[in-house]
Amino acid sequence: MNIIDGKQIAQKLRNDIAKKVEKLDRAPGLAVILVGDDPASTIYVRNKDNACKEVGFYSEKINKSANITQQELLDEVIRLNNDDKIDGILVQLPLPKHLDTNLVIETISPEKDVDGFHSENIGKLMQNKANLRPCTPKGVMTMLATTGIDLIGKDCVVVGASNIVGRPMAMELLNAGATVTICNSKTQDLSGKLQRADVIVVAVGVAHLIKGDWIKKGAVVIDVGINRLETGKLVGDVDFESAIKNAGWISPVPGGVGPMTIATLLENTLTAYQNRK
Ligand code: NAP
Repeated sequence: MNIIDGKQIAQKLRNDIAKKVEKLDRAPGLAVILVGDDPASTIYVRNKDNACKEVGFYSEKINKSANITQQELLDEVIRLNNDDKIDGILVQLPLPKHLDTNLVIETISPEKDVDGFHSENIGKLMQNKANLRPCTPKGVMTMLATTGIDLIGKDCVVVGASNIVGRPMAMELLNAGATVTICNSKTQDLSGKLQRADVIVVAVGVAHLIKGDWIKKGAVVIDVGINRLETGKLVGDVDFESAIKNAGWISPVPGGVGPMTIATLLENTLTAYQNRK
């Protein structure tokens, strides 16, 4: 059994980006908007800001009150769309309920949409012509590439069908030549589907949902889930202890997909910079 060390892969990606940035005549710029003071979102935004600084990007962290109006937030996005120092704009989700998340995402200029959530970028992913691809699924593809496994013709099961992880993840695997099954909360016989899978990607948000005996011997298992137990311990959606008995490759939580998401955001910001040049 091999561990897919997301922390190490992400660090290599960040080092490579930092080397490229040294040779540029202007630092790529990322703006991250945080609305409100949700503790988890505040940590994510701080980590993204620190990661930008580490690779030599120009970074703007914009904190807005949870009471911001829809129009004020859209005006902020439009201001950043027109700011030449900024190559990438990210609005930290989830937004407070009175704000229309979809409208905010659609207002970000597609060429600065480094989260890859704008319908234009999602549409291009569907057509296998993607340029800015959602960070978490793209990061998972980078992790899979390090295993050396050829995805062509492989049976892949994605558990979870959200717009930000499950759906784009399934499309990434399809684009790589795999045969893909997408599961959601209504799926029947989830364990049976997983037992036939060569590659499993789980993004649900339920601690230890996937049991070791649901995994085919030698399968690749990527755990996107992040769940905090009552003890304070951080765990994934896969029951790691039983899964390692069958998996050929497995990503841990923490230290798996999480660091890859941030490194891929930096990668996308560099791509957006290059496109804008
Ligand atoms: P989400 O929007 O809540 O979507 C969860 C998906 O899981 C839905 O499609 C839901 O089905 C499905 N689901 C729920 N219970 C299920 C079950 N028992 N069996 C099969 N499918 C089930 O969540 P998300 O935003 O995709 O995030 C998922 C997890 O990944 C969370 O733990 C989140 O914290 C984590 N995450 C991690 C990263 C990272 O960088 N590591 C990034 C993003 C998210 P329905 O569609 O039927 O409701």
